[in-house]
Amino acid sequence: MSDTMPPTGAHAGTVRMPPLGITAMIPCYNEIDCVERAYQEIRAELERYEDVELLFIDDGSTDGTLDAIKRFAAAEPRVKYLSFARNFGLEAAFSAGFKYASKPWTVQFDADLQSPPHELHRLVEKALEGYDVVFAVRENRQDRWYRRLGTWAHQMIAQRWLGIELPTGASVFRLVRTSVARKVADSRLSTPYFIATIPLIGARYTTLRTTHRPRVGGTGKWNLRKLFSHAIELFVGFSFRPLTWLIGLAGAVVAGSVAILALALSGQIGLYLIGVASLVTALVTLVLLALVARYLVRVMRVQAISVPRYQIREANIPIRADEALYGYETPFVVAEVWENAS
Ligand code: UDP
Ligand code: MG
Repeated sequence: MSDTMPPTGAHAGTVRMPPLGITAMIPCYNEIDCVERAYQEIRAELERYEDVELLFIDDGSTDGTLDAIKRFAAAEPRVKYLSFARNFGLEAAFSAGFKYASKPWTVQFDADLQSPPHELHRLVEKALEGYDVVFAVRENRQDRWYRRLGTWAHQMIAQRWLGIELPTGASVFRLVRTSVARKVADSRLSTPYFIATIPLIGARYTTLRTTHRPRVGGTGKWNLRKLFSHAIELFVGFSFRPLTWLIGLAGAVVAGSVAILALALSGQIGLYLIGVASLVTALVTLVLLALVARYLVRVMRVQAISVPRYQIREANIPIRADEALYGYETPFVVAEVWENAS
């Protein structure tokens, strides 16, 4: 779906928008160099809206980020926070954010302010046209070349080769109807890959080009290993085509091996070729095994769904008992919250 396409679905354009209450969610992992500035800038932009909260998710920071967040919370009751027991990763952080957001709309910001908070208003305007999700697409993306190349390659493989529907170029800067975001966060999919799950559940989404800038401080948190495993999660989590291809390839290798064996037995080829053929067969077998193992992990994740993706050590809002590391002895109230939330 592009910027210009109208919303689809039976009730397109006729949905009543809820009164504009916004949760600004800010996942933070060791962002002591940016978090104060992020708080100030985001807070200033939120002044235009009457019903807002700032929800910080501290993803196991060890650099004093949580202390800074607690200072903001002490000064301003609209500041809420959750703090994970360790670093569980950005996906876990924003899943928690969507679950515990209490306003009808949630905007996800980065603590490094790469996506400027003032762009929020354009996302809001777009959402009011009748969308559940507006994804920001970074114009003139200010990241290293290998990050841009990585995004392009993995989206191309996902969309063209594996047939996975994705909003092209979507970043984690997005405005989402909270109830829809919660559906994704609570989904029993093995991989809660947000941008691939939104089209899957039929949510009305669009993209909007927004400005982008370098980090205002600190360092990026993604390394090649994390990026690679994130891409594999998308491929395996949302498509079975790799398995089909490899089974086809395995069939071709078996046929080839039989032919080579026949030629060898009739004395038409020598040992060298047989050696090469065996190596190729072994390689294909290993790749197939690795891929099957990856799909098995996917199944195991669904089995293990009762184990939450994160554990919360501290918060200043009520949280679910099964997501609190210390259960009922925590100083904050532990409760089932989202039945009552927006
Ligand atoms: N982040 C997080 N947990 C992680 C990694 C990142 O909460 O394990 C947060 C990080 O603090 C930032 C946002 O996710 O607010 C985006 O991270 P980063 O700027 O490193 O990503 P990039 O802009 O390079 O994609
Ligand atoms: Mg960043």
